[in-house]
Amino acid sequence: MAGESAEHGIFTIDAKHLQDLLTAISKKGYLLFGPTIREGAIIYDRLNSVDDLPQGWTDEQNAGKYKLTRRQDYAFFGYNVGPHSWKKFLQPPEHRLWKCKRENGGLQIISDSPAPPKHAFIGVRSCELRAIALLDKVFTGGAYTDSEYKNRRDGLFIVAVNCGQAGGTCFCASMNTGPKATSGFDLALTEVIDGESHFFVVEVGSEIGAEVLGETPHRAAKSKDHEAVNQIIAKTTSQMGRAMNTNGLKELLYRNYEHPRWDLVASRCLTCANCTMVCPTCFCTTVEDTTDLTGENAERWRKWDSCFTMDFSYIHGGSVRATPKSRYRQWMTHKLATWVDQFGEIGCVGCGRCITWCPVGIDIAEEVHAIRESESPTAGG
Ligand code: SF4
Ligand code: SF4
Repeated sequence: MAGESAEHGIFTIDAKHLQDLLTAISKKGYLLFGPTIREGAIIYDRLNSVDDLPQGWTDEQNAGKYKLTRRQDYAFFGYNVGPHSWKKFLQPPEHRLWKCKRENGGLQIISDSPAPPKHAFIGVRSCELRAIALLDKVFTGGAYTDSEYKNRRDGLFIVAVNCGQAGGTCFCASMNTGPKATSGFDLALTEVIDGESHFFVVEVGSEIGAEVLGETPHRAAKSKDHEAVNQIIAKTTSQMGRAMNTNGLKELLYRNYEHPRWDLVASRCLTCANCTMVCPTCFCTTVEDTTDLTGENAERWRKWDSCFTMDFSYIHGGSVRATPKSRYRQWMTHKLATWVDQFGEIGCVGCGRCITWCPVGIDIAEEVHAIRESESPTAGG
């Protein structure tokens, strides 16, 4: 079937028609963004065709470790999340808010926010869908809406991909954020490779998703296709090497502001801010104003910032969080405790990026476990 709108439901497309799917999305006016290999990692960037996807590649990850390796097959999405997250497109690392010019003795503010091009994200994992939902809440769910974010978000087409393997630092199953995408997508793919057979099981999540699938050769899924998806998700869930127990987590951290574990982690932490840069839900920014040498033109930029910098908590007289201990504690307790008070849920989706990309291998799941264990009746022998 092609050239007609697909119903909501479950279908399959042959791997050789993945390009047709991307073409159908492009024809609707979307720029494609997705996984591709750059400088030894799988990152997110512009896609021109399926040839840009990391076909046949995977990654090995552990605390402070990331390595690309070849797969034994030709999977297009056979890797785990890398150092980039989709926030870089929704809330760019550097963005000019406005510029101004001195004119007729006054200042003329020039807004340069043309409507952003419509983006299609290809290969969004379940934990990443949850991270985008958290960013939606932060930027559009309160009393004030971030119009820049909303413009980018409103024009988005999302192709989710269910994870066919767990990475070494993933713990989404324990956070109830994966590994299967359940909402927030236009289309969700599960890649199936069985001997010579290579295809995608496709779940339709929106009208526009159905239209795009309708323009791609596809067929209705059979019961064995559903079974293949279930098996893949069960296998991925069972592979997850880490878990975080979230029962009473907010209260646990609030009770333990002065726990000796904070000193231990601070003795390792370099306050490099990597964990906040790679985290798909960290959203803090700063604002910088610049002028040119003539004094006639000025600009205001918004840039990613981190609670690991001294400047971030600088107020009159000095930084509120002057020590590595206070900065690491701020980051972890915000993610896992104060975020709940602020936004009604935990701010961590269990993607594992902060563990992989920490140069000294600090592991947020391990830190939680250590504090929890110290309260157990058997702690200390
Ligand atoms: S805190 Fe770490 S594991 Fe949790 S969402 Fe952020 S990067 Fe992923
Ligand atoms: S926890 Fe790791 S990644 Fe985060 S600031 Fe400390 S050393 Fe850097």
